[in-house]
Amino acid sequence: MSKKILVWFRNDLRLHDNEMLVEAIAKADEILPVYIFDPRHFEHSRYHTIKTGATRAQFLLESVASIRESFQKFGGDILIAQGKPEDLLPKLVAEYEITEVYHHREVASEETAVSTHVEDLLWKQKVNLKHFIGHTLYNKEDLPFPIKDIPDVFAQFKKKTERDAIVKPCFLTPEKINFVNVAAWGELPMLNELIVNEELPTLNENSEFRGGEQEAFKHLHDFLHTGEDMALSNASLKKNEVVSKLSAWLALGCLSPREVYWKMKEAEASYGLKPYFNQIVLGLLWRDYYRFMFKKYRNTFFKPAGFTSNLKSLPQVDNDLLQAWKNGNTGQPLVDAMMYELNTTGYLTNAARQLVATYLVYELGLSWVMGAAYFEEKLIDYNPASNWGNWANIAGVGNDQRLTNSFNFEKLLKIVDPKGLYSQAVRA
Ligand SMILES: Cc1cc2nc3c(=O)[nH]c(=O)nc-3n(C[C@H](O)[C@H](O)[C@H](O)COP(=O)(O)OP(=O)(O)OC[C@H]3O[C@@H](n4cnc5c(N)ncnc54)[C@H](O)[C@@H]3O)c2cc1C
Repeated sequence: MSKKILVWFRNDLRLHDNEMLVEAIAKADEILPVYIFDPRHFEHSRYHTIKTGATRAQFLLESVASIRESFQKFGGDILIAQGKPEDLLPKLVAEYEITEVYHHREVASEETAVSTHVEDLLWKQKVNLKHFIGHTLYNKEDLPFPIKDIPDVFAQFKKKTERDAIVKPCFLTPEKINFVNVAAWGELPMLNELIVNEELPTLNENSEFRGGEQEAFKHLHDFLHTGEDMALSNASLKKNEVVSKLSAWLALGCLSPREVYWKMKEAEASYGLKPYFNQIVLGLLWRDYYRFMFKKYRNTFFKPAGFTSNLKSLPQVDNDLLQAWKNGNTGQPLVDAMMYELNTTGYLTNAARQLVATYLVYELGLSWVMGAAYFEEKLIDYNPASNWGNWANIAGVGNDQRLTNSFNFEKLLKIVDPKGLYSQAVRA
């Protein structure tokens, strides 16, 4: 019997630097790529927000369409279905006589629970679910400490990791793929089939964020090109002005963090300009840090009290104030301009996220989890670890003691918009 491996794609929608795909192609006679739109990802959260809002759902649809196109160029396709993976995968395994299933490991509880459920069901069919690690810059095996001993203070994590761990080279993009024979690969759903019973907003047709691996490469190339131009003209930027806007592609795995890292290192070797290229590497380290912290502490980041055991009472929920913050109607011009940008594009710079989050927690006195849940709905680059981890630290209930009490609205205001120009520009 021929060996057939089902490659279950989730937040790893790329062909480059994809160990799971490379190994499946090497070990199987034929592979069956699968993407499943899970309706639970589009449900309401307990905070009356939608888990995936329209902007990110659209970006996801574009990213799945893009990987489909890539597989079609190899003479195959990706099987697309809607439903719960634990219902669909065992059926696909039986129907296509699959011998093994590959997927990438996630860290947040809902995703790991689904994996465990699938693993149990496949085990009954005597089929193994193999886990891969492909979301981080550093593999956990290559860190200088086991997960339970990873320093809680980011500065220590960074120092020791950069000193003692290595970033592996990227896996090569496949050149040939043999696919399982499939009669109907399935249609890509429409946006209103994913988000049901909701009025969909009009999406920005000129968005600079288009999903998919090829778009990610274009964006990465543009960032590197800007760096080259700056180096040639001896230009410089302040640290918080360096933004790559790569986060949405990184979040869905259209872009591998290692690919970004090695491109930054190559560019730095060619053009110098370390403060520019290294700022992105620093961001990737923050991203790894929150992911490893999620692995270490699991659900603690989702709890309103976070890591504090002595929080006496939680802030009240004032729906009018919360709604004003969400709609960009607080009366604070910069916060309002940024919330407008979040609502229309799904993207904010890190400094802008810190500013609106600090405003919600310390100026409006609202519960941080309400803000985090709203970000979960609206962000185009949402990932559980980066979102809930950053929010918890801003709210002073995180695990990095050095970040506790370090967020001050007035200070941030001066850093983000010293001349008060931002709010005028965004509204114009
Ligand atoms: C309240 C709050 C919520 C956030 N929620 C998310 C989220 O859901 N998803 C997300 O990807 N990032 C989140 N971040 C982190 C950060 O703001 C974004 O990653 C960054 O603004 C994305 O823009 P960029 O790609 O231009 O980043 P760059 O500055 O160009 O950085 C390069 C990459 O590094 C990573 N990165 C940078 N800063 C951070 C950080 N502080 N924490 C984690 N990763 C970082 C991102 O993947 C980013 O694409 C959040 C930050 C705050 C303060």
